[in-house]
Amino acid sequence: MPKDEPLAAAAPDAIAVDRLSVVYPNGTVGLRPTSLAFAPGQFVVLLGPSGAGKSTLLRSLNGLVAATQGDIQVAGIGSIAARGALRRHRQRCAMVFQQHQLIGRLSTLQNVLTGRLAYHSTLRSLWPLPLADKRLALDCLDRVGLLDCALKRVDELSGGQQQRVGIARAIAQQPRILLADEPVASLDPATSVRVLGLIHSICKADGITAIISLHQVHLARQFADRVIGIGAGRVVFDGPPSQIDTAVLTAIYGSLESAQRDDWSVAPTPMTVPDAAVEQEALSTTLTNRITPRPT
Ligand code: ADP
Repeated sequence: MPKDEPLAAAAPDAIAVDRLSVVYPNGTVGLRPTSLAFAPGQFVVLLGPSGAGKSTLLRSLNGLVAATQGDIQVAGIGSIAARGALRRHRQRCAMVFQQHQLIGRLSTLQNVLTGRLAYHSTLRSLWPLPLADKRLALDCLDRVGLLDCALKRVDELSGGQQQRVGIARAIAQQPRILLADEPVASLDPATSVRVLGLIHSICKADGITAIISLHQVHLARQFADRVIGIGAGRVVFDGPPSQIDTAVLTAIYGSLESAQRDDWSVAPTPMTVPDAAVEQEALSTTLTNRITPRPT
């Protein structure tokens, strides 16, 4: 959708949340009751200071964080609370992480292939994945410009290249929805523009609904169809990037100075080490065996 067109969607929403709220077990409010609908193919950027609730919203959209109250409806699936619905939703809902969440000792191609695992039973995925999956993974690597790195260990790649592998893994899932949590936060400014531009062009080409949290206001202005500003666990702005002015930035960040600081010089809080370690461990233990060819 071209920038600044009316936001009303003709098609059913790709995903919608209705009075969704999250209170963590320690009592911290991650998200106050929030209702939002995302049109198919929309490129949505979540802006807000650290601790505002952007990750909580993103992670609740694919069930990584459990909703305390409210409902999430997905096109073609219905409520993800229904039996079996979350698994079907996750198959077509990919996620790109700030810290890439790749398995360093595996090749680039093997990492991209993990994006195909949701399509196979645990038993089937104990064996090498079908040739069709490998072709698709190579095609995804080609789209992100890394075909020549397919057989390299992924930990030999630069940060920007690793994030492109993360994008290739996500699109290997052939998602209808792509969630990205601070996908360019650990990259330098020039690489950030290139990587976000890549996500944008792929989502537009494939009609993928993208919901992406960012710290950089200028990147939201450059790429977003729609910006949702989050502050203290609630939506404080929802509109096209052309409407982002001083008043909006103050509403989102508390002050213009905070907004400017957030934009470039303040590094966003990285995922906490326990979170990252737990996710990395889960990936390693549940996925590595499945995609590493068994010795004959
Ligand atoms: P953002 O992504 O905007 O930085 P988060 O969604 O990570 O914000 O955090 C929203 C609030 O929830 C913050 O107060 C944060 O400290 C809290 N929070 C996030 N994750 C957890 C967790 N696992 N347990 C307890 N509180 C959490």
